Amino acid sequence: MNFKDLGLSSKILRAIEELGYEEPTPIQEKSIPAILEGRDLVGSAQTGTGKTAAFALPALHRLGKHGKCRVLALAPTRELAIQIEENFRIYGKHLDLRLALLYGGVKYGKQLEQLGNEPDVVVATPGRLLDHIGQGNLKLKSIEILILDEVDRMLDMGFIEDVTKIIQKTPRSRQTLLFSATIPDSVRRLSAWALNNPAEAKIDIKISAADTVSHALYPVPAIQKFDLLIALLKEVKFENLIIFFQTRRGTDKISRWLSEHGQEVRVLHSDLKQRDRQQALQDFKEGKVKILSATDVASRGLDISNVTHVINYDVPQHSEDYVHRIGRTGRARTEGEAFTLCKPEEIPLVESIEKLLGNPLPRKFLDHFAYRDQPETLTPSAPVVSRKRNRGFGKQVSFGSRRRR
Ligand code: AMP
Repeated sequence: MNFKDLGLSSKILRAIEELGYEEPTPIQEKSIPAILEGRDLVGSAQTGTGKTAAFALPALHRLGKHGKCRVLALAPTRELAIQIEENFRIYGKHLDLRLALLYGGVKYGKQLEQLGNEPDVVVATPGRLLDHIGQGNLKLKSIEILILDEVDRMLDMGFIEDVTKIIQKTPRSRQTLLFSATIPDSVRRLSAWALNNPAEAKIDIKISAADTVSHALYPVPAIQKFDLLIALLKEVKFENLIIFFQTRRGTDKISRWLSEHGQEVRVLHSDLKQRDRQQALQDFKEGKVKILSATDVASRGLDISNVTHVINYDVPQHSEDYVHRIGRTGRARTEGEAFTLCKPEEIPLVESIEKLLGNPLPRKFLDHFAYRDQPETLTPSAPVVSRKRNRGFGKQVSFGSRRRR
């Protein structure tokens, strides 16, 4: 199938062609026809699958001429909101589109200006959107398409009341598009309440976590985690790399240590000012630094292309977060590697990730690294390979194949 078959307008097709997209991704193939028909939709897909275009392209197609704020896209984080707005702008570059981007942590001036300009598309985080509505800067009476992105994340972050309030302020006749990486009961309930006989577009989590990313688990005594990280950074040929941490304090501390070891790093977590977060992201995206240290703020929704490696310094507490974290690499059909450093206490977390993925994570040990404990004590039951002796290992194992060496 190609984009022309989907029935998108020529101006949108031109933008897609200029971007070099050759064919729709599976989530786009499944979502776009139903959205163009005007149906509500539940899309279950994570970032990296092309889900933003899956809702933005048909929404733009349906938007037609200027009018007052007819598409509203809600996102859980400012970074994701910024990215969605960017995508709408790029896909709609030949459409004479007016956009407004609303998120907290910054002054109101520019946002008020954009709202005064009668935007066609508003992209917002819930809190700031409600502030604007409360101040009478915007009404939602003319919303025709409501997009709720990363809804599982939105609910995890405690936005359920805000999201419910916002939905209630939009007309019942609206078209509602709900996207979520996972569909737990809370998302299902929201969907049953807010959507009308939705079409479903589902991309299997296992496939999207799998295809282009090779995974490895590096068991290590807790006390040697940082040393192993330094050793891995020397060993691995990365172009750019995101290191994920569980806590903001951990992110700051290890990043400081990395700088002391001569590694230039930018830090991204929610304690930082919005300006600093944006700057860190921009420096990383532009290649000014090769390493970004982040909490899970960065794991969802961010479109950072060409990330060659992801390292989980801490095993994520929620197994879905593993999928989101590694979703930063291997995007849009390029290959990536994902390493997880695991101290013995984190093994139960690894087991639940393996259960979610339906595959074991291959254990690896770094040659020439002076482990304080024997491999058997670090990883009780799993088979072990060494990185040096099995250099090609990671590349050849992909989820779904169950091929092991
Ligand atoms: P998303 O899942 O929306 O974050 O998109 C992930 C990346 O895939 C973005 O960099 C998009 O520009 C890119 N992308 C989206 N659709 C396509 C497509 N059909 N072909 C190639 N790349 C795409």
